[in-house]
Amino acid sequence: MRRKIVAGNWKMNLTKSEALSLYNNISSAENLAADVEKMIFAPLLFLDALKQNESGLIKIGAQNFYSEAAGAFTGEVSFSQLKDLGIRYVLVGHSERRVIFKEEDELVKAKVNAAINAGLKVIFCCGESLEIRETGTHISFVVNQLKNNVFQLPEEAFGQIVIAYEPIWAIGTGKTATPEQAEEMHEQIRLAVAQHYSNYLAEQTPILYGGSCNAGNAKELFAKPNIDGGLIGGASLKTADFIQIINSF
Ligand code: PEP
Repeated sequence: MRRKIVAGNWKMNLTKSEALSLYNNISSAENLAADVEKMIFAPLLFLDALKQNESGLIKIGAQNFYSEAAGAFTGEVSFSQLKDLGIRYVLVGHSERRVIFKEEDELVKAKVNAAINAGLKVIFCCGESLEIRETGTHISFVVNQLKNNVFQLPEEAFGQIVIAYEPIWAIGTGKTATPEQAEEMHEQIRLAVAQHYSNYLAEQTPILYGGSCNAGNAKELFAKPNIDGGLIGGASLKTADFIQIINSF
């Protein structure tokens, strides 16, 4: 049985007190599915406070970090500073980092390597733009992202990776990939992992879907054999919706 995971990406939202109360409201819910791993990727500024308040039921992760341990990188936060706070999970390759902050493959790869070498667990995001989907090259595009960003890892290190397929055209747009579109891509991602590493690793690797996944569509998406959960943006900011998504398997 593969791990089931629901992770919330709060992006650049909430004040500190709102973040703490949202976290407490979700983690104190009585009916949270016990067999689903639950994570929240919070703004860096609130990680320390959230970590001190961590319930064990919902892990706290970082949305971003830089690939060097320390030095003259004004405004950045390093993977070793995250580790010092006790953070164990990081997002890498989110399309908002790639598109808005111009993170190219080379930096994404360096961040994956730095995080894994530091013993952090990586949720690696990949996904195509609408333009690419319309040319019909979306599968090879995503497989190339895997080749360029994560397939450099040795087999054992790749075992620390969770993949999140997030079509850019579905993120924050209210336009979800159909379960069939998502399943098709997840199947191809799994095949690429099998071809590069092994069937065993492909079967073990959780592949999450992200892109306007919400309380209304999560059940149908998570019912697909290759969809092992979700990376949830907007809907993770609402307690009841996020709980319903966690309980959608
Ligand atoms: C995300 O940011 O990872 C995401 C999936 O956002 P949303 O759910 O809002 O589309």
